[in-house]
Amino acid sequence: PPAAAAVPQTGADGLVLLRRVGVVDPGSLDDYRTHGGYAALRRAFTLGPAGVIREVTEAGLVGRGGAAFPTGRKWAATAQQPDHPHYLVCNADESEPGTFKDRVLMEGDPYALIEAMTIAGYATGAHRGYLYLRGEYPRALRRLRTAIDRARARGFLGGDVMGQGFAFDIEIRRGAGAYICGEETAIFNSIEGQRGEPRSKPPFPVEKGLFGKPTAVNNVETLVNVLPILIEGAQAYARTGTGTSTGTKLFCVSGAVARPGVYELPFGATLGELLELAGPPETLRAVLLGGAAGGFVRPDELDVPLTFEGTRAAGTTLGSGVVLVLDDSVDLPRILLRIAEFFRDESCGQCVPCRVGTVRQEEALHRIKDLTGAAAAGDIALLREVGQAMRDASICGLGQTAWNAVESAIDRLGAFK
Ligand code: NAD
Ligand code: SF4
Repeated sequence: PPAAAAVPQTGADGLVLLRRVGVVDPGSLDDYRTHGGYAALRRAFTLGPAGVIREVTEAGLVGRGGAAFPTGRKWAATAQQPDHPHYLVCNADESEPGTFKDRVLMEGDPYALIEAMTIAGYATGAHRGYLYLRGEYPRALRRLRTAIDRARARGFLGGDVMGQGFAFDIEIRRGAGAYICGEETAIFNSIEGQRGEPRSKPPFPVEKGLFGKPTAVNNVETLVNVLPILIEGAQAYARTGTGTSTGTKLFCVSGAVARPGVYELPFGATLGELLELAGPPETLRAVLLGGAAGGFVRPDELDVPLTFEGTRAAGTTLGSGVVLVLDDSVDLPRILLRIAEFFRDESCGQCVPCRVGTVRQEEALHRIKDLTGAAAAGDIALLREVGQAMRDASICGLGQTAWNAVESAIDRLGAFK
C-alpha cells in the first residue's frame, strides 16, 4: 500500500497497524518488545490517565467497529463516572459478513491488543478487561491465551503492571456463533450469563454497562490504534488521513478480485486505488461497502474517498471496512436474498419490527426471485414500508440496518427492474 509521508510507527512497507503482522513471532513477548512492544504503555504511565485520554482525543481516533464514535469521548465519559468498578470490554466478536481484519491483528500481533487493552484500562479506571472473542477464531484464541499468560508471568498484567502500582487483568470470553452477540449490550448479557439480546440505549455503556457498571467497549482495531498515537504523539498520528478520518484503516477486500485480503491504507485513498491494489475484475458490477448493513457503489463512482464522511456523502458507509467486489457474473437478487436470510436468521427476535420485518423482507425477495428477478406489483412498495418500520422502530442496529443493502440495490443499481 502507498505510504503517507508522516505515518506514525510506520514499517518499511508503509504499514502502521499491520507492521508487525508476519514479522514478529506472535508467541514471543521478547520478540514483541524487540519490535517496539510496551513502549506505548510506558509512555501512558508518564502521561497519566487524563494525559492518555487527551492524546487519543487530539489524535481524532474514532471507533473502527463500524460506528466511528470518538474514542476519547467514550474514554473520558467512562473515566468520570463516580460508580465503581469500571470495566473494559474489547469487542472481538468480528461477525459482520466480509469482515476479517481483527482476526489478522489478533493472530499476527496478539501482544499489541493486550498492551492496548491495558492502556485503555489505565485511562478509563478499569482494573478488569474482558476480551469477547468470536467463537469461530480458534487460532486467535490460542495465541491470545498464550500472550495473556506470558504477559502476566512477566508482570505486564496482574496486580502491579510494569511495577507502576496499576492492577489490570484480562479474561477471554468466547462467543458461540450468534451475530447479535457482537452488539455491545448483547455482549454484556452474554458475559453475565443471560440470553444474548441487546439492551435499550440509553443508558449508554459508559454509564451503565457490564454488570450495570461504567464500561468502555472498544473494537480490536480501535484499540491497536492507541499504540502509534502514544508513541508518535497525537499530532503526528493525525497528519495521516483526512481532517475527520485520521490515521490508517484496515479494509477487508473479498469477492471478484485477484488478491483478496486485508489492506491497510491511509484514510482518503479512493476505492479505485484500493481495487487497483487488489486486482479488480474486468467487468465490475458493483462494490458493497460496509457489509450486509452497508450500501452499493457503482463502477462510475470509484473515486469515492474511503473515509467515514466520504462514504456517507456517497450514500453508503465505511462500516467496519468491508469491500465486497461483485463482477458481472453475479446474480444480484440471489445476493440480496442471501443478505435477507442472514438477517432473518440472526435477528434475536426480541422486538417486533425486526423479528417480523426481517421475515417479511425475505418473503418479498423470494417472490421477486421466483419471478426471475423482476418485482411483482406492490413488492417494492412493501419492501420500502417494512424497511422504514425496521429502521425507525427496532431496538438495535441489526433491525435498523437490515434493509440498507436491499434499498441501496433498488435505488442505486436499479435492481428488480
Ligand atoms: P452506535 O452508533 O449506537 O454506537 C457506537 C458507539 O458509541 C457505542 O459504543 C455506543 O455505546 C457509543 N455511544 C453512542 N452514543 C453515545 C453517547 N451519547 N454517549 C456515550 N457513548 C455513546 O452503534 P452500534 O450499534 O454500537 O454499532 C453499529 C455499527 O456496528 C455499525 O456501523 C456496523 O457497521 C457495525 N457492526 C460491526 C460488526 C463487526 O463485525 N465489526 C458487526 C455488526 C455491526
Ligand atoms: Fe433483536 Fe432485531 Fe430487536 Fe436487535 S432489532 S433487539 S436483533 S429483534
